[in-house]
Amino acid sequence: MTLVVKFIGSDAHWDEFGPALQAELAALPFPIALSPDATPKNTDYIVMAGTHAPIDFSPFSRCKAMLRLWAGVEDVVHNDTITFPICRMVGGGLDAGMVEWVTAHVMRHHIGMDRHINGQDGLWRANTVPPLAAQRPVTVLGLGALGRACSQALATLGFPVTGWSRSPKTIDGIRCLNGDVTAAVNGAQIVVALLPRTPETENILNAETFARMAKGAVILNPGRGQLIDETALLSALATGQVSHATLDTFRQEPLPADHKFWSHPNITVTPHIASATRPEPAAKVIAQNITRCETGQPLLHVVGRKAGY
Ligand code: NDP
Repeated sequence: MTLVVKFIGSDAHWDEFGPALQAELAALPFPIALSPDATPKNTDYIVMAGTHAPIDFSPFSRCKAMLRLWAGVEDVVHNDTITFPICRMVGGGLDAGMVEWVTAHVMRHHIGMDRHINGQDGLWRANTVPPLAAQRPVTVLGLGALGRACSQALATLGFPVTGWSRSPKTIDGIRCLNGDVTAAVNGAQIVVALLPRTPETENILNAETFARMAKGAVILNPGRGQLIDETALLSALATGQVSHATLDTFRQEPLPADHKFWSHPNITVTPHIASATRPEPAAKVIAQNITRCETGQPLLHVVGRKAGY
């Protein structure tokens, strides 16, 4: 019997991801029909791009899994009409892209690139040799698929990296902590937030955590806007406790044109482009998970509904 896979996403998402998904699914050893028009009652799998207003999934009575093309799951994780597993995107180019964004922005601040890019004023500033990475402690909040990859890349560059997660971890070359977040950010000169948005992580970067960092710390937030207490960030920037924040995610997206962050001299806004799912590798992840489910193996990357990520 033909497996029916319903694509949920915008027309633009279908144009972007449809061809790669069609190609990967067609290569599987069972007949599959992928379409945005599949009817809920005939759907065996949902493949979903984008974030959506609440949807009633109760008509999807025979669905075996929702396979997300996005890493974040805030829009579906607490939807009680979803009675089948939700799998998030892990891999699919997301890790490679995030490593590039994080290491680039860490290096920008570490090397002090702005001083030279913006300071072409004829003054020979020979006293601006940066410290080596080994003298620059970095903390990565979140040691999941993305935090782990970024921690390891930064450690390879020579930074002493502390990573923080909910459960205890052991990762070669990384000082892994769990529990008290203030211990994890203590003395950090650069803090990278790669946590999901949950009630526990909301405002985790706040006056108390900023105060524990090294004076002049730099914040990178490609995680979620809700991780940061915005008022506390602006105060920490005003006192110099935080010297710069490079933010990719915001409480409201797109960030409104009149938001203070746009014009702040010590905030860099990037428009949620730190990392994106790429069609070809993502289609392989989706095909792999359908194959696993059809052959009785456990699904990969299943979201913890209670934990919220
Ligand atoms: P994972 O689910 O793989 O990892 C999440 C990490 O956060 C885990 O290490 C988890 O701990 C930790 N964590 C969760 N809750 C807590 C808590 N209360 N206290 C301490 N640690 C906690 O996610 P990914 O690495 O794939 O992605 C991270 C986030 O990055 C996504 O949720 C999304 O918000 C964001 N993202 C942003 C993108 C962008 O372009 N800006 C693109 C893709 C993702 P444990 O390991 O113990 O479970």
